[in-house]
Amino acid sequence: MTIIKAVRGTRDLLPAETALWNRIETTARQVFARYNFGEIRTPLFEDTALFARSVGEETDIVSKEMYTWEDRARAQSEKTQSLTLRPENTAGVVRAYIEHGLGESGQLQKLYYIGPQFRRERPQKGRYRQFSQIGAEVIGPPSSGSESPLRDAEVLEMLATLLDELGITGWTLELNSVGSAADRARYNDALRAALAPVVGQMCVDCQRRAVTNPLRVLDCKVPADQPIIDTLPVIADSLDGASRAHFAAVTAALDAAGVAYTLNHRLVRGLDYYTRTTFEFTHGGLGAQNALLGGGRYDGLSEAIGGPKAPGIGFAMGEDRLVLTLQALESAQKLLKADAFIASLGETLNPAALALARELRQAGLRIELGEGSFRLKKSFEAADKSARAIVILGEDELQSGILTVKTFSTGAQTKVPRAELAAFLNNGSQV
Ligand code: AMP
Repeated sequence: MTIIKAVRGTRDLLPAETALWNRIETTARQVFARYNFGEIRTPLFEDTALFARSVGEETDIVSKEMYTWEDRARAQSEKTQSLTLRPENTAGVVRAYIEHGLGESGQLQKLYYIGPQFRRERPQKGRYRQFSQIGAEVIGPPSSGSESPLRDAEVLEMLATLLDELGITGWTLELNSVGSAADRARYNDALRAALAPVVGQMCVDCQRRAVTNPLRVLDCKVPADQPIIDTLPVIADSLDGASRAHFAAVTAALDAAGVAYTLNHRLVRGLDYYTRTTFEFTHGGLGAQNALLGGGRYDGLSEAIGGPKAPGIGFAMGEDRLVLTLQALESAQKLLKADAFIASLGETLNPAALALARELRQAGLRIELGEGSFRLKKSFEAADKSARAIVILGEDELQSGILTVKTFSTGAQTKVPRAELAAFLNNGSQV
């Protein structure tokens, strides 16, 4: 009998890996909570028309990557409905925003999601047919301030914070503005004109896109087409005054917050609903599939699927790629380790060690509690495996209130007053 295996492009995550996935999700939830986002969970499948009308018919996602089938509402019914496994979650969130009248409160809605998405892509490292995204959307009626460039900058600042807290060092934020719908129409005309004399030398996809949706030519990955694409007009020259001012306000706020970025004129993203700010965070450690996350503003999306005017901005991070990056950076170990291991020197100190652990855990730290019967060598071995630092609690330390802490990454041994211990262990510079 043939053995049945997991389907191409899908994977099992075993406990050795799920530990890291859970840590990433926990950190993401904590960061989202600090920015006052709430969680939304939408269905894994939706009406196919939702994606066609939002993501766009001409995009790779809708034109060739969706898992779509005809479903009958009732077993015997003749009538069918076209359904699709969600290839992304923004369309579902905006559909839910409209369906539940979330804009009627007049308040800005800040929603995040974590869950699987499905695309029939050619599987390779960092690219799967079932993958998980962690994303968020900020959306609301214009009166809620949803159009403000401050929203864009705050989302980008939150992402920089989240990546830093995950221990993902060395990311790059690439930024662009694709303008309003009117700016894009102007840019499409400029592209059509520039493409007309050269498109014959380009790939068949570009030949089609040049007619249907010239902006998508910038997504082309065919090496031979790149020199031609480099000569095309840039979108910045087609932006009107309002779009320029919006983008300038986004970058000014990022400068003020100290979030570094680079401008990339070709960053138009593979989904049609984007307007104005678009962005990607990339990481060199990922190889060909180097995008950790992508997103942008979508001021017309709600109306495109029959809803009220509801400007918004959002992003989706590839959770699979976060895991790959962390594993490559060896930050994964740090993320999985406790903040400190408390080693009591002798069983009589066990109660005092429990009291200290309680104190530190109440301060929000992850603490591993040793056992006083352990010899110091054994405590060090256990601590090195499970924690980033060891706190030694002997009779002297208990009396004096000055504890000895060894930080494993640097090997440094430091005397820390008990009242300052939580802050010391919490400080990123100590790890
Ligand atoms: P997109 O929804 O295409 O803007 O993608 C947002 C992020 O999701 C990307 O930056 C990737 O990190 C991740 N992603 C997209 N497609 C896949 C895939 N097939 N496999 C794994 N991650 C993906």
